[in-house]
Amino acid sequence: MNIILLGPPGAGKGTQAQRLQQERGMVQLSTGDMLRAAVASGSDLGKKAKGIMERGELVSDELMVGLIEDRIAQPDCAKGFILDGFPRTQAQAEALDRMLAASGAKLDRVVEMEVDEAVLTERIVGRFSCAKCGTGYHDTFKKPKVEGVCDVCGNKEFTRRKDDNAETVKTRMAAYRAQTEPLLPYYGTRGVLRKVDGMAPMDTVYRQISAVLAGT
Ligand code: AMP
Repeated sequence: MNIILLGPPGAGKGTQAQRLQQERGMVQLSTGDMLRAAVASGSDLGKKAKGIMERGELVSDELMVGLIEDRIAQPDCAKGFILDGFPRTQAQAEALDRMLAASGAKLDRVVEMEVDEAVLTERIVGRFSCAKCGTGYHDTFKKPKVEGVCDVCGNKEFTRRKDDNAETVKTRMAAYRAQTEPLLPYYGTRGVLRKVDGMAPMDTVYRQISAVLAGT
């Protein structure tokens, strides 16, 4: 099964995609994570993307489509994937259609995570993750059980994304509204779009997504 999680920054796409990967064996394809890895490695792609990401703008369609095209062609994606952060523009959505058609694959569901915009900034600026295993935490909503120690792997170092600050969030939200939100009608008219309540507790959101996928 191939799905897209669609929603603004801070909607919880990454959290839900991670859990779908762990529990259902689907492959999480997070373009944000791929780009952050490219920046950390100092690759050409990383050099091109770094400043754009720090400003909260979108990396070019050409680079993004190339990145996803290579990744989707890997054998592990044949068991199904969850796109988290892609597509973000009409051109990316059309390129995805072409890629899937070319490989005889299909898009089963697009899950919209609906959230109240007022909570997004608070959700985003408080988040941090384990530097070793990547488990996500939040200053207010999900602190580690023992302060300063990762619940999952016991590591004591944490990282915060450079773009998770109030100023950059404004630009990221504007990019979402202008370029990504128009994809909702694009998928809506095809009958693949389903909504879940992204304001609900994480477990409830996961159950809602599971129910949507059970209906495919
Ligand atoms: P994310 O982790 O999904 O919030 O993405 C972090 C940043 O990476 C975004 O603010 C963009 O600068 C860039 N990015 C991630 N995915 C895409 C995409 N599909 N198209 C353009 N830029 C992207």
